[in-house]
Amino acid sequence: MSFKIATVKGIPIHISVTFLLVFLLFAFIFAITGWPFGFRYVEPPIARYTLACLTTALFFVTLLIHELAHSLLASSYGAKIQSITLFFFGGISAIENPEDEKNLDPSKELNISLAGPLSNIIIGIVLLGINYFVYGSILGVADVTNWVAEGITVFTYNIPTMIFLLGTLNLLLGFFNILPIYPMDGGRVLRAWLAKRHSYEEATNTAVSIGKGFSIILAIISILAFQWWLAILALFLYISASEEGKMFKATTILEDIIVKDIMSTDVLTVDESLSLTDFITFVFQKKHPGYPVTKNGIVIGVVTVDDARFVNEAERYAFTVKDVMKEVVSVKPEDTALEAFNQMGQHAVGRVVVLDEEGKMVGLISRSDLMTAIYLKDSFKEKSKTDMNSF
Ligand SMILES: [Zn+2]
Repeated sequence: MSFKIATVKGIPIHISVTFLLVFLLFAFIFAITGWPFGFRYVEPPIARYTLACLTTALFFVTLLIHELAHSLLASSYGAKIQSITLFFFGGISAIENPEDEKNLDPSKELNISLAGPLSNIIIGIVLLGINYFVYGSILGVADVTNWVAEGITVFTYNIPTMIFLLGTLNLLLGFFNILPIYPMDGGRVLRAWLAKRHSYEEATNTAVSIGKGFSIILAIISILAFQWWLAILALFLYISASEEGKMFKATTILEDIIVKDIMSTDVLTVDESLSLTDFITFVFQKKHPGYPVTKNGIVIGVVTVDDARFVNEAERYAFTVKDVMKEVVSVKPEDTALEAFNQMGQHAVGRVVVLDEEGKMVGLISRSDLMTAIYLKDSFKEKSKTDMNSF
């Protein structure tokens, strides 16, 4: 779940709900950590929390700059950016058409991937430089420890601390992001570099393996150094690298499948006038979760058990499937299964209707159809590999 906060150069910026929790967590950590990494000794508390929140907000502005650096460079190369979403630790810039991403020249992808971390490193150097030239130390005012020892500092005296914190975090963020762990920026840089010599597919697989290897090394080092947070982060990176690898494998398989080859053609439909009570009975008989809704034989929507469940059981007889159905999300029989998969993702639905040129329904394709197809294709691919090896 996310909501829009702004639009920059036509790119909508969203923040997710998890991001708000992370904001509070960061502000809290800044408020309870002592100088120079926080404002613990700042009195009165109102000044302490204001500084902590302000620092967090500015830090997230620099995260946004990171994402904008990727996005603006990508759009200057002609890849259309659908949106930027800030979530958890960082953000994602969604390129509208996954094909655009794949067709990008590797050296352009390399630049796009580097633009984000580079922007943080520049911000970091500039901020620490400001402290150095204005206050004589990158930590800010050199004798700030004395005020801290006294336990009383004023708001303005903490501006150098804020600059120091933001500068340091940006440097960390920049360097951390260039670790070669796919799908982090460094992993993308690595893939782009590999893609200059190998196919995109091989490059991604190698980048995923190297990323997993690096996250394991990072985890071992963190455990040996008793850095539990870093160890958790390494685990998180390992999971995202392997998820990304699986996702890539799935999309490569789906791209080679045509919708009409895997769609179900004996599609059961329900009439728009069917009451929800009767619909539930129908679902129990037929045992499918979702059905296209028709009006005079034309598909006007899709209804699922979940849509019906929202209506109170006692009131279901008074509603028809038309009242609760969702819009039709459709693909053409000649589209790739990947297109169907992307449509499901974009509209958050579990099934898409297959319509021919005249808008007539010729089939239905569900998420489980896609999963079965991936599984089958993959197992046959593995099989043919072992067969070849045995010769
Ligand atoms: Zn990035």
